[in-house]
Amino acid sequence: MTNLIVKNINIRAVNVPLDKPIIAHLGTFESWPYLCIDVHTNSNSIGRSYIGPYLLSQLGSISKCIEALSKFFLDKNIKPFDFFKEGFKKTALLGYQGVGLYALAALDIAFWDVYAKEANLPLAVLLGSDLKALDTYNSRGLWLIPLDKVEKEVNDLLDNGSFNALKVRIGRDILKEDINVIEKIKKIGGDNITIMSDFNCCYEYDTALKRMLALDDIGLYWFEEPINYRNFEDCAKLSARIKTPINIGENFHGPYDLIRSINANASTYIMPDLMRIGGVSEWLKAANIAEAYNLKFSTHLYPEVSAHLMHLTPTAHWLEWVDWANPILKDTGFKINNGKYHIPNIPGTGIEWNESNIEKYKVNV
Ligand SMILES: [Mg+2]
Repeated sequence: MTNLIVKNINIRAVNVPLDKPIIAHLGTFESWPYLCIDVHTNSNSIGRSYIGPYLLSQLGSISKCIEALSKFFLDKNIKPFDFFKEGFKKTALLGYQGVGLYALAALDIAFWDVYAKEANLPLAVLLGSDLKALDTYNSRGLWLIPLDKVEKEVNDLLDNGSFNALKVRIGRDILKEDINVIEKIKKIGGDNITIMSDFNCCYEYDTALKRMLALDDIGLYWFEEPINYRNFEDCAKLSARIKTPINIGENFHGPYDLIRSINANASTYIMPDLMRIGGVSEWLKAANIAEAYNLKFSTHLYPEVSAHLMHLTPTAHWLEWVDWANPILKDTGFKINNGKYHIPNIPGTGIEWNESNIEKYKVNV
């Protein structure tokens, strides 16, 4: 691997239709935008990654940032961990969060992928783990859909026993509607179902507290992001008042946000996002910080690469499963049975493209 040299970096933008539209407090989304990265090297191995930075209108700015950063890595030996540190210095004047961090994460994941491919090992194994089955929950639906569609949706998501844990989005206009949805899920799923819930930052402190107190005994496994994600202090006050654990972290932009959150005692659990935490290199740092504070660590989106990293996360908790990127991915053997997620025993992260669908959903940015 000492002679693995970056020769070219290719970026493609796609907008992939969603099988189940996202109906959230932030809006309705019928499709999801991704940037797909290929790192070509002097060997036959190609490093691949995707990021889904939410806003179709910003794919262009992030793509430009990746392109500008790429120039710095051309013709250099791939050393993913060192690359991140060097790249971080290059983007520091742009700010340590946001576009620069997303761009760096996209490259970092692809660099680690090709590094593992060249070692002929799955990324998790390269980093020092055996392959393990991971607890996973189905997060690909149960948005703020009409109540009469909930039953069918729950049955879809349980998928004939593939899953025994689901996430439901709550914070509906009327408390009774939240209660109805949750009771329906419990009735269909039976005693063994685990129900995560997500407010998607829809409340201010006072309304969050009122709704959470009202739902505190209903049997939810966690409340996710009740209030604005930057407000760690109010989240800590909610955590102190509520019995149900609070989970936050998909909006941690780098491990320093995790430290701020820990210092504030903001939540019981955390769930960093692969892109926003800063890719593989920064995830590993966050995982070790979480261990030091005995904080249970779940994932957010990106199940394929996050699953590798959960093998190296000492306090690994739940893997969030969604299939939004599946149309652009080749089936390389990721599997789910009985609520467990398995990564394929192949070199790299297992990310390979379905080229015809990438072509089909390609957008110009
Ligand atoms: Mg969430």
